[in-house]
Amino acid sequence: MLLDEEIVKLVGMPEKAYRLLSEPDRIIRCRIRRHVPGVSGFIYVYLVYHSAARGPPGKGGVRMSSDVTLEEVAQLAEIMTYKNALMDLPFGGAKSGIAADSNLPPESKQIIMSAYAHELRNELLSGHYVPAPDIGTGPSEMAAIFGETHLRESVTGKPIGIGGLPGRKEATGYGVSVVAERAVREFLKKEISDVTVAVQGFGNVGSWTCEFLSKMGAKIVAVSDVRGGTFHAGGINLEDLKNYFQRTGTVSGFGGSQITNQSLLELDVDLLIPAAVGGVINTGNAANIKADLIVEGANAPVTQEADEILLKNKKIIVPDFLANAGGVVASYIEWREGKSGAKTRKGETFAVIKETLLEAFEETLHFSVRNGVNLRKSALALAATRIVDTMYSRGWL
Ligand code: NAD
Repeated sequence: MLLDEEIVKLVGMPEKAYRLLSEPDRIIRCRIRRHVPGVSGFIYVYLVYHSAARGPPGKGGVRMSSDVTLEEVAQLAEIMTYKNALMDLPFGGAKSGIAADSNLPPESKQIIMSAYAHELRNELLSGHYVPAPDIGTGPSEMAAIFGETHLRESVTGKPIGIGGLPGRKEATGYGVSVVAERAVREFLKKEISDVTVAVQGFGNVGSWTCEFLSKMGAKIVAVSDVRGGTFHAGGINLEDLKNYFQRTGTVSGFGGSQITNQSLLELDVDLLIPAAVGGVINTGNAANIKADLIVEGANAPVTQEADEILLKNKKIIVPDFLANAGGVVASYIEWREGKSGAKTRKGETFAVIKETLLEAFEETLHFSVRNGVNLRKSALALAATRIVDTMYSRGWL
């Protein structure tokens, strides 16, 4: 659980609000019954509504991964509650998971997604849950959901032709780069063009983060994906890397020195951006992290125990629900467009993301300085304050 005694005290949180936020509002677990080529046995689907205080809808992505568990989905739904509140979006926190291999052929994934939408049709059609891409899913999977619901506002992260938002696919990585630039100036007292960066993960979030950071002039010295990483002391040529990735489907083996995901995290760089999976910085490696600044592109890349070790070593961590919120801010615009029929240009989407994230950054920073707490606690306390206020105004407290 993200809340602790210190946050409860900072917020002046009533006991009932604490209890409401201590466990999910509602959990749905079901199985896909349709035959999926290449799959034997059942595929389980989980949907967790953590808190509907600021919803419905409950907003949060759909993760497809063979090892996804209900516990993981619940943890991610909880993060969404605070991320949405910190961004001041009228969304509760939710998340869903499909326990299937995301490397299945596209035809099998399409069947899985339409069966997923069929199983969750009541949640999707009532507007209670609005999914978006997460690990293992992207615009084609969102299109498959739309193919079942035929409601534009029922899913975000769709392809442009069916109401997708220009800039949505870049949104999370763009937001990470905006927050990273601001954090580098604040905490390292440097410009982004003067720092070295290592990025773990080269999927949606990692690749777009690299793209925008590189445009800002940052020196990206290492990237990795599930198959391993590459290190170039003089900086990676991103255009060459993208070409290599397009040919091979991986960044592993792209010249320079071959490195593991583990050694990437421990590189002596100024800025480390874990943008792949959760729990990668843990008690096993936290003491070896050398980067002074960690910006969480992924959700929950640092375990709670590792957080304490890093803070003891004076590392600055910009938490996930602040750093990677660009995606949900863009999703909010797409959801609104789905309802109104309005259209937004890519430049406007980026401008809204930048303004929203930087405003949240400043609020978090000031609260943290004023109250002598780290950025994670500060952001959580701000988000929790908004949630508690909403609970009061709804007559829950
Ligand atoms: P993705 O599936 O597009 O990419 C995941 C990347 O991680 C790939 O490069 C993959 O090879 C790599 N990877 C997978 N397992 C790994 C491992 N064990 N070690 C190292 N690398 C590994 O997913 P994504 O959408 O880029 O999401 C990445 C993270 O960002 C997740 O934690 C997700 O929850 C979070 N996030 C995503 C969005 C979004 O809009 N897509 C928004 C907010 C947060």
